[in-house]
Amino acid sequence: MATTQQRTIYTGTFIHCTDLSKTEILTNTSIGVDEHGKIAFITPVDTLSGTLKSHSWDPAEIRHFPPAPNSSKNISFFFPGFLDTHIHASQHPNAGIFGKSTLLSWLETYTFPLEYSLSDPRTAEAAYSTCIHTTLAHGTTTAAYYATISVESTDILARLCRELGQRAFVGRCAMDNADFQPSYYCDADADTAIKASRESAESILAADPTGLVKPIITPRFALSCTEESLKGLASIAADLKIPIQTHISENLDEVALVARTFPGYSSYAHLYHNCGLLGPNTVLAHACHLSQEEVSLIHTTGSSISHCPASNTSLGSGLCPVRELLDQGVKVGLGTDVSGGYSPSILVAAREAGAVSRLRTAPGVETGIHSLSGKSLITTIATTTDNESSATTSEKQARDKLKLTVEETLYLATRGGAQCLGLEACVGGFEVGKEWDAQFIDLGAEIDAGYVLGGGSVGNVQVWKGMEWEERLAKWVYQGDERNVKAVWVRGRMVVDKVAVRA
Ligand SMILES: [Zn+2]
Repeated sequence: MATTQQRTIYTGTFIHCTDLSKTEILTNTSIGVDEHGKIAFITPVDTLSGTLKSHSWDPAEIRHFPPAPNSSKNISFFFPGFLDTHIHASQHPNAGIFGKSTLLSWLETYTFPLEYSLSDPRTAEAAYSTCIHTTLAHGTTTAAYYATISVESTDILARLCRELGQRAFVGRCAMDNADFQPSYYCDADADTAIKASRESAESILAADPTGLVKPIITPRFALSCTEESLKGLASIAADLKIPIQTHISENLDEVALVARTFPGYSSYAHLYHNCGLLGPNTVLAHACHLSQEEVSLIHTTGSSISHCPASNTSLGSGLCPVRELLDQGVKVGLGTDVSGGYSPSILVAAREAGAVSRLRTAPGVETGIHSLSGKSLITTIATTTDNESSATTSEKQARDKLKLTVEETLYLATRGGAQCLGLEACVGGFEVGKEWDAQFIDLGAEIDAGYVLGGGSVGNVQVWKGMEWEERLAKWVYQGDERNVKAVWVRGRMVVDKVAVRA
């Protein structure tokens, strides 16, 4: 059942990532989006009238965006909507609050009490609606959400996503291991965890025949669950043909505890694999401390990694070796991990991904993929050289390779995330047949001689006359925020509309 909308022509500059390191910039272009929210054609403005005729589109029945000829001198462009591959909607009220905690103490101090409070439907409604409004306003058109242990609360999140028009995967947190969570916020046993998760998934599936909002099986993380529940949850995902999300190797204390709790498995990833949880529709968040054997297993099974740099730095968890994962063919997307991460913005995640990748190159920083015996396989890059001046050329080249460029972080924010969530044929770029999940970005007027303070800038971004698109994109990633997002669409439906853009 697809909703029908008015055919719309979008005109202006379109920018998207065509592969990991390349962006395509289409100026003076029009994109036609059909009544099902799909891109019907992409054409230079000059040839639009002929394209309309060849598609039998009646000009009188077409809506335009911007609706009037755009006289603005501002630097603006359409960009694919962002995909947040890992966000806890239930923790949105706590974003920015983490004190001096690390993962396990943060869960106990801040997170479990908040999530439990969302068992009250009115509290859940407030938390979830503000989360969705906020992420949409930041350009997130798809989110892979963790809700809470409550089936009712999880249903509320799915309903609000449908109503507010955000593409989403919504997961009820399964957690039946009483050793690692408080008794007031824990499934009574494995059977309860499995049955409640199935009930939640079936309810979300039945409520949305359009498939915009889908369920995702969500064992919270290894320590939250027993082997029995992990295996039962994997069976539900296989039965209902729905994806799986969970956490992996976020923090060293957690990794050590997993090894002690599940001594029969050679690693964290092997535990998940043996329980049936790894596969092409599985998203694993963090992956800061994987061994080479685990990376190979993740790659072989087609599982993907959600890189959550703002969370990893806030909780001091570790530095995810993104370059090595990409080099080995592992799918990688970005996640905000609110509220381990302080920001609901995937633009901030892109920024932090760039920053973390550069931090990894600092002399003395231990980072990378390890062997199961614990030996770092890239020690020579990061630790043998104590100062920059004495580094050899090959060491400098190896360090530089670890750095993610602006283009690469934007790729992870769009197409990379789409690959993680099995949406690569549907969203993440501008191609005929893809759905119109997009954001309209305004970087303000160019600054030149005679500039008057405050005249024409939008938010923190200041674009100076003569800057090329490469520099403008860098300005956006490192200085931009939701003030630059003027409109957002999901499957052709306008879900954010800041009218000022029409002036
Ligand atoms: Zn998380």
